[in-house]
Amino acid sequence: MPRPYVLLSAAVSLDGFLDDTGPDRLLLSGPADFDRVDEVRAASDAILVGAGTIRADNPRLLVNSAERRAARVAAGRPEYPLKVTVSGSGDLDPDARFWHTGGEKVLYTTDKGAARAAEALDGLGVDVVPAGPDLDWHVVLEHLYDVRGVRRLMVEGGGRVHTQLLRLGLADELQLALAPLLVGQPGAPRLFGPGPYPGGPAGRLRLAETRPVGDVVLMRYVPTAPGTGPYASAADRYWLALACELAGLCPPSRTAFSVGAVVVAADGTELARGHSREGDPVEHAEEAALAKIDPADPRLASATVYSSLEPCARRASRPAPCARLILDAGVRRVVTAWREPDTFVPGADGNGILTAAGADVVVLPEYAAAAKAPNGHLLP
Ligand SMILES: [Zn+2]
Repeated sequence: MPRPYVLLSAAVSLDGFLDDTGPDRLLLSGPADFDRVDEVRAASDAILVGAGTIRADNPRLLVNSAERRAARVAAGRPEYPLKVTVSGSGDLDPDARFWHTGGEKVLYTTDKGAARAAEALDGLGVDVVPAGPDLDWHVVLEHLYDVRGVRRLMVEGGGRVHTQLLRLGLADELQLALAPLLVGQPGAPRLFGPGPYPGGPAGRLRLAETRPVGDVVLMRYVPTAPGTGPYASAADRYWLALACELAGLCPPSRTAFSVGAVVVAADGTELARGHSREGDPVEHAEEAALAKIDPADPRLASATVYSSLEPCARRASRPAPCARLILDAGVRRVVTAWREPDTFVPGADGNGILTAAGADVVVLPEYAAAAKAPNGHLLP
């Protein structure tokens, strides 16, 4: 199911805290960074915070710049991004500033919390949406995409919400402002809590950008650890976007598709990449990528192959099609953007060969257009 691009935004102290233990919110950023955050908000369709953050910080979550609001309106968008919060209990303070400022608001809660929230927020015009017996983030994100038309979601905390979204593999990007101060209080709230994260302790996020903003440093990270089984993670979308961009490197051909492929280990390490006709005029992308990896590499068994097009099922030019090469390499997970049409090989079913052998195949059709007409500009 398609869902919004999810951007986690936080400012953090040098010792990893979001705030101190005092009653007032500790200001980690300076004016320049608050202005940067305002710009990111203005570029978002919706801003989300957890109910705990509303309780602790009582934020307004507005776009403060009149110019940016005017630019939104001129572009046919609402003056303010949609404000979104989540609360399992539905126990919310109707006097919080969140409800009384800006544009439209949505609350996602549990089936149980919905009645309590509807009563607490009666008359405030808040859309209260039950999202299952327990709050299910997949339901929340799909609803935001489908029903509210949100394509870009900015998440401003707190630590619990950031932790859940990153752990579930649902964060497409992390924007972290590192502030030059030390909180040093054991009970203070941390950015990320303990527990398992995709890729494990050795998994490294990809650093997309660093930039000084006043006296803080902005760091933009992209998660890289592939999803598991049939579930698509945000990192799956990143790697498939890269595969689609690699398809743009293929020498043109009238008799074959242009395809890009990347092989990625479970911890997010790129093992190899390739594209069609890279080495010789009939070489396929998955074949080119797999040929660069030692067949004895133990990481292949838990790796994912990203291919902009479904791996081929039959070929005249080589003894084994790519679906077979992938299985023979020991790979058991494939992510692709579109099924092979009958243009060159009728009835090809590479995905069928893969799934029959027990591999997981994930198709992300939202990348099909990019896969068919690679032109770049997909990667964050
Ligand atoms: Zn092939």
